[in-house]
Amino acid sequence: MSEAGIPLGSETRLFTGLTNTGWLSGVLIDTGPDASVYGDVPITDVLITHGHADHFSSAADLRRSGARIVAPREEAALVENPEVNIRGMFSWARPSDEMVTKMFRGEGCFVDSFSDEWRGHGVEVVPLPGHTLGHCGYLTDDGVLFSGDALYVRAVWERHPLPYAIDPGLVRASLGVIDGLDFEWLVPGHGTAPLSRADVGGHVEHHIARMDDVSAFLLALLAEPCTTEQAIAAVSRHVGLSENAAQYWLAVTTVKGYLSDLLRQGLITFSVRHHAGYWGAV
Ligand SMILES: [Zn+2]
Repeated sequence: MSEAGIPLGSETRLFTGLTNTGWLSGVLIDTGPDASVYGDVPITDVLITHGHADHFSSAADLRRSGARIVAPREEAALVENPEVNIRGMFSWARPSDEMVTKMFRGEGCFVDSFSDEWRGHGVEVVPLPGHTLGHCGYLTDDGVLFSGDALYVRAVWERHPLPYAIDPGLVRASLGVIDGLDFEWLVPGHGTAPLSRADVGGHVEHHIARMDDVSAFLLALLAEPCTTEQAIAAVSRHVGLSENAAQYWLAVTTVKGYLSDLLRQGLITFSVRHHAGYWGAV
């Protein structure tokens, strides 16, 4: 076997990159853009955390080389056809190219089976929804949790001050699941160093505090009713989001996620006036 990758736990290996990748006894967890970095480690199966193209960039390549692709059931359509994500982002209309983040662009890949059917090979599936509908983490028998995009570590917040979330309530619940799990190391989808178990609580707390700050900011803002567009702009300015079309369209989904979360908690209301949607604090 090649010595490629960084040893973590007793058996697991870690390949760091744009998207971090794990490997344990023939099973690859997420993929970066270049399959050649995995050297000659045998790859029989590829487990995908979720349907964003930056997490399955070389899955199609690996499948052509004989690997089986496994993805969460709710994410499979996105892995097979990245256009689904792109259209969903733009309310199913066809967006122009500059509106689409590169994390949604990539080569689709047939999914051979679903994560909930996965058994064995020393890897357990841990559902961690919220970033996307069916997002899953994968926990190896030797204690390494690959958490995909469920947890944004402190170092990543500077570049991504408004992490994409379709359901902030589910993100919070999944962060609680992570904090309650038994493991030795956590490898986030992005960011370089793996976290030791003792360090994870602080990163979880930080992630939840940043989310609470967005919710509190929105509640205060909506003392005076705002349109969806005004709420998106105010939150983007508040967190210091960079200003470009791709970031804007990601923020549209995430801020709508927060608004809907507050609405379901009964803290704000939604109404339509003069054909514009308004959100206001109760
Ligand atoms: Zn993602």
